[in-house]
Amino acid sequence: MSSFKSPHSLPSSADRSDRIGLSHRPSGEVHVIVGPMFAGKTTALLRRIKSEVNNGRSVAMIKSSKDTRYAVDSVVTHDGTNFPCWALPNLLSFKQKFGAEAYDKLDVIGIDEAQFFDDLYDFCCKAADCDGKIVIVAGLDGDYLRRTFGSVLDIIPLADSITKLTARCELCGKQAVFTLRKTSETKTELIGGCDVYMPVCRQHYVNGQVVIKSARDTLESCSKVQTDSYQEEVAVA
Ligand SMILES: [Zn+2]
Repeated sequence: MSSFKSPHSLPSSADRSDRIGLSHRPSGEVHVIVGPMFAGKTTALLRRIKSEVNNGRSVAMIKSSKDTRYAVDSVVTHDGTNFPCWALPNLLSFKQKFGAEAYDKLDVIGIDEAQFFDDLYDFCCKAADCDGKIVIVAGLDGDYLRRTFGSVLDIIPLADSITKLTARCELCGKQAVFTLRKTSETKTELIGGCDVYMPVCRQHYVNGQVVIKSARDTLESCSKVQTDSYQEEVAVA
């Protein structure tokens, strides 16, 4: 068991007498890649990870086990590039699953779809501050209602660099910074691809919300009128 120190613990006298000793372990880093869906976040993450591999670094890639759209054990971009990964329900279980010894030898940790990890902040703190890892995080900064999604924005204060990528608006081709949900489903975590979401510019995001809201209102008022007949249909079905 290696002796990692909590960042909050006071240095021992041995540490105080050997200040240079604090830098024996290389300093960690946190890099964050955000943007709407279809902005190439995973592609940017993989490019970065592959270049680290080419430089002889030891890397591991993690993604949420919630996202099984393409493959369970690899990170796959929308255009089909892939890289083997650990699909986990949370990040703090990674070290144990990966093995403490193997973890110690890791230089770089990539995290894809980071918005699904509740323990992102704690993991990044520990990995970069205490364990000297370079952590590269890719995820959505906002959900389809442009609200903070998960804890991706919480790690901005920890970050060495932040990159916000953009997509192309599916309706006009301008820069797209938002994700529009095409369906009337309202739960925040609805995993889907271009069947459910599209990248849009500000103007088309606002217009899209108006269209979706009026469609929803119409549906709701219809369903109120037709509740009786609908229930009959359901009973028959
Ligand atoms: Zn547009």
